[in-house]
Amino acid sequence: MTAPILFRGGRVVDPSQGLDEVTHLLVVDGRIAAIGRDIGSPDGAQVVEAGGWVIAPGLIDVHVHLREPGQEDRETIATGAASAVAGGFTGICAMPNTDPVIDNQSAVGFVKSRGEAAGLARVFPIGCISVGQKGERLAEFGEMVAAGAVAVSDDGHPVMSSQLMRTALEYARTFGIPVADHCEDTPLAHGGAMHEGIISTRLGLKGIPAAAEEIHVARDCILAALTGGHVHLCHMSTRGSVDLIRRAKEQGLSVTAEAAPHHYTLTHERVGDYDTNAKMNPPLREDADRAAIRAALADGTIDCIATDHAPHTYDAKEREFDDAPNGIIGLETALSLGLRELVNGGVLSLGTLIERMSCAPARLWHLPGGTLRIGGVADIVAFDPTASWVVDPARIRSRSRNTPWAGETMPGVVKRTVVGGRVVFTGQ
Ligand SMILES: [Zn+2]
Ligand SMILES: [Zn+2]
Repeated sequence: MTAPILFRGGRVVDPSQGLDEVTHLLVVDGRIAAIGRDIGSPDGAQVVEAGGWVIAPGLIDVHVHLREPGQEDRETIATGAASAVAGGFTGICAMPNTDPVIDNQSAVGFVKSRGEAAGLARVFPIGCISVGQKGERLAEFGEMVAAGAVAVSDDGHPVMSSQLMRTALEYARTFGIPVADHCEDTPLAHGGAMHEGIISTRLGLKGIPAAAEEIHVARDCILAALTGGHVHLCHMSTRGSVDLIRRAKEQGLSVTAEAAPHHYTLTHERVGDYDTNAKMNPPLREDADRAAIRAALADGTIDCIATDHAPHTYDAKEREFDDAPNGIIGLETALSLGLRELVNGGVLSLGTLIERMSCAPARLWHLPGGTLRIGGVADIVAFDPTASWVVDPARIRSRSRNTPWAGETMPGVVKRTVVGGRVVFTGQ
């Protein structure tokens, strides 16, 4: 049993129960025990003076690449979990496109047990949709769910066959799990290194049109209507996708969506002179797309923020733009970017940011956490929203350093991350 923890005088923000007030919060036996101004300090409690801090349900990321098994030089489950708790995340969902891929019961069990052994953030495995991510035959969803899988996804690859996507949605529905799709029409996107537009033309790079994403978003919404299954649309990047999701939601379809911090922060201009830390899939888009993603986060058309944390080695990202791998790390900068771009930028209230980064992912994917309700698991982030820090790649906990924000000053310093009532990260 860990000692009780009493957070004194923090701003407790929990949109799941409409709470936003300066008060005390007590954790006992791994659960939220009490919230209020009249809480005394129990014997042996660890008292944390939280004046000026925000106390919120721990952040949850439904889209993270941990690279283990197979690419441990980029990240391991333990280093990814360490990066997560440093960023205020108490739960992360691990994408299955490792080497080998996570497409069976024992592989799911491996990810879960490695996560438990690390003892940091909760690591929720995602299983593959198709065996070997080949897009041909469905993996055994039932066995993977029994081993702890919380969703299925072939992320890294789209599900090109509409027939396979249909049966995946029907099958997943019987287990109550989402099918998370990487929306990309492969032939249309093929060979593209960045967004198709005036910058790609100027740089002489082959572009990926917005339509490559939107075709799959439209198809997946149609299949959600046909099957009643829950489709979760990964890393939405275009204004057209936002319009399609808005329409699907008006029809009451079981469609949820996520956006990544880089897509609401940066545009294709950032590729500049072939900066590979601005190379991701889907690519950075135009100003109007960025604005649409922000508006969709504000009105709930896009349900949650997910990092798509994608660690790559220095050498890999140092290649020529065309040959460099896609993706950037994101766990340690996500909260700060949410504060800087969305809250300080006047797009979202602090409560709505917490809703998009914690409550919604927990609720929509049926994960523990996402609330500070009495009796619930004590998964908590405490941060100082006004303190700032400088992104120093040498100090990042992830095993990889591929961030486009090196050297930038960010608001929001994580002070404590608590998982199951245990302090797993203490910040400065
Ligand atoms: Zn993807
Ligand atoms: Zn991904």
